[in-house]
Amino acid sequence: MNLEREIAWQARNEPIDIAGREALLIELIAALTRQEPLTGKRYNRTIQDFARRGLPWLSKAQVLTAYEQLCIAGYMTFDPDTRAHLQMKPMRTQSGVSVVTVLTKPYPCPGKCIFCPTDVRMPKSYLHDEPGAQRAERHGFDPYAQTASRLHALEKIGHPTEKIELLILGGTWSSYRRDYQEWFVKRCFDALNGFEAATLPEAQAANAVGIRRNVGLVVETRQDHVDVDELRWFRYLGVTKVQVGIQSLDERVLALNQRGHDVQSTRDAFRLLRLAGFKIHGHWMANLYGATVEGDIADFGRLWSDPAIRPDELKIYPCMLVPNAELYDYWLRGDYVPYTEEEVVEVLAACKAQVPPYVRLNRVVRDIPTTNIVAGNKKANLRQIAQQRLREQGTPCQCIRCREIRRDPVQLDELELRDRVYETDATTEHFLSFETAGDAPTGGRVAGFLRLSLPDPALAHPLPELAGHAMIREVHVYGPALNLGDDSRGEAQHIGLGVKLIERAADIARAAGYSRIAVISAIGTREYYARQGFTLDGLYMARTLL
Ligand code: SF4
Ligand SMILES: [Zn+2]
Repeated sequence: MNLEREIAWQARNEPIDIAGREALLIELIAALTRQEPLTGKRYNRTIQDFARRGLPWLSKAQVLTAYEQLCIAGYMTFDPDTRAHLQMKPMRTQSGVSVVTVLTKPYPCPGKCIFCPTDVRMPKSYLHDEPGAQRAERHGFDPYAQTASRLHALEKIGHPTEKIELLILGGTWSSYRRDYQEWFVKRCFDALNGFEAATLPEAQAANAVGIRRNVGLVVETRQDHVDVDELRWFRYLGVTKVQVGIQSLDERVLALNQRGHDVQSTRDAFRLLRLAGFKIHGHWMANLYGATVEGDIADFGRLWSDPAIRPDELKIYPCMLVPNAELYDYWLRGDYVPYTEEEVVEVLAACKAQVPPYVRLNRVVRDIPTTNIVAGNKKANLRQIAQQRLREQGTPCQCIRCREIRRDPVQLDELELRDRVYETDATTEHFLSFETAGDAPTGGRVAGFLRLSLPDPALAHPLPELAGHAMIREVHVYGPALNLGDDSRGEAQHIGLGVKLIERAADIARAAGYSRIAVISAIGTREYYARQGFTLDGLYMARTLL
């Protein structure tokens, strides 16, 4: 955003003075609330009607602040559903948590991947005009300013910010100097806390009991940078999830694209991460140099048929040809040909049909501004097109994202507890979930889930202090992100699903012969686990199973 647009944006978001306008504003909010769904068109029409009657032209942020002021002044009774209805982007917090994305400073990456864009103004792999990248640059890549501005924007449009997942993006996190990493994370925590602590542990301690708690911390790194020392460092920083570019499980394709690692390296990293309790978020790419449609579909199958891979979350990126990647020269020479749109949809639909129900498929196309794409797919709605294809074929996507319960109120007696068990190379995984009866697309809707890892006792544990421990890698309960004190209306976060999942996991671990159960807790969820009988034990929280 340039300065003029930023100033205009600020003006549109200045709170308006409600004095003398109360009656008209109450009428306006009632009129907006009646419209279901509240589309942009309907919103504009309603605002126009009220502008004729004397109100200024109000942005959604202004309507929301006016609503809050009216509630505070006692003119209206606060209703979280009304606020959700008036929110600009209700999807953003439907998983129960608000996400704040921050970018690291421009820095080279040890990787030499031929498809990866290079822009000296950005950390490796990010393009200058991606929306998140522009925001980061505007703030000089300062983590405090980036975090604070996102919090401010979220609060302005009425999103609760008590539970924040921090997503740190940019090249390979592990290749940055550790003093920079520590400074970066501390500054993010400082912004959440609203003051500058002297050290990272001090900032974390404040956040553990703070108003805006960090409930997840995500970094992205390469598989060949994951070792035991790195696991401990991640935990010191408070990391709970690691994004890794799998890209392909075909040695030939990895080599052709100069990934600089083999498939075994991905297996090794995943084993370490899983045993240390991290959630594993994989990226997989279609249409790399040397790939074919059939080859890609088979390769995607290996993500699940190879027990050592099986990530928890996945992003599928069809390779996008951009001028500042080496692959561009291959294309100019005629050595690389991007898939047609039909081919991309074919691959995506075939991939989505293979996703197991314990996986969350977070995204299927990268958010690259289409002006950067030289050739190949330019459509942003490929997920929807592929989804449509799956519906036509009668094979709906089973992934968690497609089955999340979102904002729907649920009663406990409508839900059944399912336990999906699968093996990896070093653990038995239990994916426990509370779901509605039946299967997707109508049933099997997920209200909450837990990932329990039972490490193979015959194998040496990379973190010896965790030997004999079962590990809870994730507990996630859906429902809109509510601030403390908001009325819950029966949404999943507030009917005790988390506690029930944890108790079930403890029962399973006990029955399997484990004497302790640990959880990879984010800094801001420690208090929650403490209430469930866990105590801080080194880098994890743990509890004895009697
Ligand atoms: S490792 Fe990732 S960021 Fe680095 S060059 Fe390869 S794709 Fe780009
Ligand atoms: Zn899905």
